[in-house]
Amino acid sequence: MINLVIFGPPGAGKGTQSEKLIQKYGFVHISTGDLFRWHTKNDTALGKRVKEIMNSGALVPDEITISMLKEELDKNPNANGFLFDGFPRTVAQAEALDRFMKENNSAIHFVVALDVTEQEVRSRIAKRKLVDNRADDEEDKLNKRIDEYFNKTIHVLPYYKNQNRLTTVNGIGVIDEIFNSICAVIDK
Ligand code: AMP
Repeated sequence: MINLVIFGPPGAGKGTQSEKLIQKYGFVHISTGDLFRWHTKNDTALGKRVKEIMNSGALVPDEITISMLKEELDKNPNANGFLFDGFPRTVAQAEALDRFMKENNSAIHFVVALDVTEQEVRSRIAKRKLVDNRADDEEDKLNKRIDEYFNKTIHVLPYYKNQNRLTTVNGIGVIDEIFNSICAVIDK
C-alpha cells in the first residue's frame, strides 16, 4: 500500500494529476479543498464555520482541517493507498498526518511537489475562471491564497525533504509528461 501527497500552489495541476493517478493506481483521493466545498455547498455545520474563511482565500484553522481529515480516513479503513491533495498545508497538519498513518501501521511514502512559477499559476487560474467560477479565484482572494501558500504551506517542504520523502517534479509542460514523471516516482 502506497500513500502519496501531491503538493503545489493553487493552480499547479494537483487536481488534474490526481484524477489520472486515481485511475492508474486506485488511490482513495482525499482533497480537503473538495471536502470543504462539499460542506459549504450543502450548508452543513462545518460548511457554515468555514465558508467565510474559504471565501477570503485564507487557510481554515488546523484544528478544523485535521479533524475533518481524520474523519475521512476513518471512513476508508480498507483503502489500498491514499492520495492527499491540498493537505497538509502546515507543518502541524503534516505531523498529524504522520501520526494518523502510524496509528494504522502505515506511512506517507512519497510527497510529489509540482514546481510551477507564480506567473504560470496566475495565468492558469485566469483560464480556469472562464469555465469554473470559483469565488476564491477572484483577484484579491487569489492573492491571499497565493500568499498563504508562500507564507505557510511552503514550510511543509523542508519537513518532508529532511526525511527524504520529497520529490520535486517540473509542473510546467504537457499534462501526460508531468504525469509520467510522477508515475516514475511511484514506480521506482
Ligand atoms: P483548494 O481547493 O485545495 O485550493 O482549497 C480551497 C480552500 O479550502 C483553501 O483556500 C482553504 O481555505 C481551504 N483548505 C483546503 N485545504 C486546506 C488545508 N489543508 N488547510 C487549511 N485550509 C484548507
